Amino acid sequence: MLDDLSKFDVIAFDADDTLWHNERFFKLSQNRFCEMLSDYVDIKTLENTLLAAEIRNLGHYGFGVKGFTLSMIETAIEVTEGRVEASVIKQLLDIGQEMLQHPLELLDGAHIAISHLAQTHPLYLITKGDLLHQERKLAQSQLGEYFTGVEIVSDKTPTVYQHILSKIGCAPKNFLMIGNSVKSDTQPVLEIGGWACYVPFESRWEYEHGTIPLANPRFMQITSLTEIVN
Ligand SMILES: [Mg+2]
Repeated sequence: MLDDLSKFDVIAFDADDTLWHNERFFKLSQNRFCEMLSDYVDIKTLENTLLAAEIRNLGHYGFGVKGFTLSMIETAIEVTEGRVEASVIKQLLDIGQEMLQHPLELLDGAHIAISHLAQTHPLYLITKGDLLHQERKLAQSQLGEYFTGVEIVSDKTPTVYQHILSKIGCAPKNFLMIGNSVKSDTQPVLEIGGWACYVPFESRWEYEHGTIPLANPRFMQITSLTEIVN
């Protein structure tokens, strides 16, 4: 599907679960959270209450580990009706700290795809999340040198993409975004007239679900970043 990249002036990549693992750490932390509070309420209710808190809090804290940690604490207070012990709150804060410090794990094909495409195109990294955490992960990934620019944004809306493209002087029709989220990497880019390549990942956060725009002529899908090189 990615046979002709010459029509693109700029290619951009999402980071979390496109270049490196992310969601699995949230899932592991969520499982620990549910175990800790399973005496109070069933797992399904815990998961749903936490998800509702995360989405409710996006406008306050943005995307990332900090907002997730605060949402776990808020949910713990809610489901225990205020009876949660300080020692449990401390453990939740520790879970958040561990997530922030976890060593980065690149996904298969990430390095080869990025180093390969960097020879022919200016590459940009466009990611949501906590600023410091994303900067640290990029440094650990050792992919930084291949990117012409890095944009750590509070959300990935059509307006945000439009703003980035006008800043870098690229017309949407010559722009390709590659990422694992239909909602954040595909839909908003197609909406402004750009091209999108969807690389589904094994798991994804409920919030990022979206309808795959199979009929859109500017939509492409690959199973792995290694396909870019082949
Ligand atoms: Mg992603």
